[in-house]
Amino acid sequence: MSSDGCPVLIVLEFLKGFARDKMCGKCLPCMFGTAQMVDVLERITNGKGEEEDMALLDEISSSIVDTARCKLGKDAATFVKDSLSASKSEYEEHIKDKYCAHKSCEIIVNYQINPEKCTMCGACKEVCSKDAIIGEKMVSYLSDNKPYYIKNKKCTKCDECLAVCEAGAIEIV
Ligand code: SF4
Ligand code: SF4
Ligand code: SF4
Repeated sequence: MSSDGCPVLIVLEFLKGFARDKMCGKCLPCMFGTAQMVDVLERITNGKGEEEDMALLDEISSSIVDTARCKLGKDAATFVKDSLSASKSEYEEHIKDKYCAHKSCEIIVNYQINPEKCTMCGACKEVCSKDAIIGEKMVSYLSDNKPYYIKNKKCTKCDECLAVCEAGAIEIV
């Protein structure tokens, strides 16, 4: 996976490289904090970011800046802090909208309903606890039936709809 301009991936790859090649592990906040930040960033690029993740990254990186024994650790944590403030909206897009404008986070996926396969049975809407599916059951004598679609901003990728769609109309793209 190439970071290709995505600030979240750039920081993730930078921290992985720092942990692998430079961090010596002599101080615990740097060692554990870096590992924790990698976990959080992987979660964000995986489309599973949580609302508090930006605050968590800021808290961990600030703590490392304050406690790290050497410049390497401080600089790595500062890199995270700077990225968070410079690219706030892009982090928010990854976390809230599950969207990567650079199309670099290949693992961020969207769910969509293929209208050619959808029989408009409504089973997916009934099972979606996030109200992420819009549409109305097919009424055969009507000409203005409302097709089903998924609002990806609300979708948490729980897969419940996939399990009930007998038509195989829900696709991950
Ligand atoms: S801050 Fe420096 S000394 Fe401490 S673990 Fe990180 S790289 Fe090692
Ligand atoms: S369960 Fe499948 S076929 Fe039924 S409305 Fe949803 S997407 Fe369409
Ligand atoms: S994956 Fe889950 S949250 Fe998303 S549309 Fe399907 S049931 Fe709803």
